[in-house]
Amino acid sequence: MPELPEVETIRRDLEEKVRGKIIERVIIKNEKSVKVPSPREFIQKMERKVLDEIHRRGKYLIVGLDSEDALVLHLGMTGRLIYSKAGEEIDYSRVVFLLENDAQLSFTDIRGFGGLWFVPDERFEEVVPTLANLGPEPLETDFTLEKFKQLLKDKKGKIKTLLMDQSFIAGVGNVYAQEALFLSGIHPTRSPSSLLEGEIEKLYHNLLNVLREAISYRGSSIKSYVDLVGRQGNYEPHLRVYGRAGSNCPRCGHVIERMEVGGRGTYFCPRCQK
Ligand SMILES: [Zn+2]
Repeated sequence: MPELPEVETIRRDLEEKVRGKIIERVIIKNEKSVKVPSPREFIQKMERKVLDEIHRRGKYLIVGLDSEDALVLHLGMTGRLIYSKAGEEIDYSRVVFLLENDAQLSFTDIRGFGGLWFVPDERFEEVVPTLANLGPEPLETDFTLEKFKQLLKDKKGKIKTLLMDQSFIAGVGNVYAQEALFLSGIHPTRSPSSLLEGEIEKLYHNLLNVLREAISYRGSSIKSYVDLVGRQGNYEPHLRVYGRAGSNCPRCGHVIERMEVGGRGTYFCPRCQK
């Protein structure tokens, strides 16, 4: 699933390619992808609108429209946004926006866990409640170490599961949670309340660093992620533990292991992570 760095990469590409463009036509090929409102109304509301500023919140993309309304997109597991010449047949496309100057933006989704919402007049809370309930953005300046410590207070369960909880911190998923824990020497199943002051500090810095680093490499192409023009991200070869069971730990040489944590495959070094 695309996480913060992948969605941020797409956001930046969208700013460059589609901002300021008029939507001339909307073609819905699979109605399930349009969550709100009805497909007919969605088309009505979206056509002739100008795509304005593009924001990201967690793993959501929020495209402002010139009408004060917004288009919200979530890529789910396998969603993609592909920018191409108008009329080009894009595999698994579900919703196609034909733009001015012979361009098109296609939302494709093999598994179908992603979606699009038309949100009138900033009524995000009403239309996309999960978006309204997101935790803080880890890369915003107000996400301080102090704030992270506060958030961790009295939290139960396993640290890795907590990091992936979107209402705890927005945008962190299975891949970057594991990388941050490895870099911090923290075992994925540790209880948040057992973390020492120094461990929390390490985790805070490593989490932010790994997200920033992944953005600079335009994300990781785990499973199906590609950018707006179909290119893969470049960060995957730099992942230290994710998907590396049986390989040697880049730090100590011990074999990387895989276990299930909260139903998700989790890679770690049993020697480095305590
Ligand atoms: Zn190790």
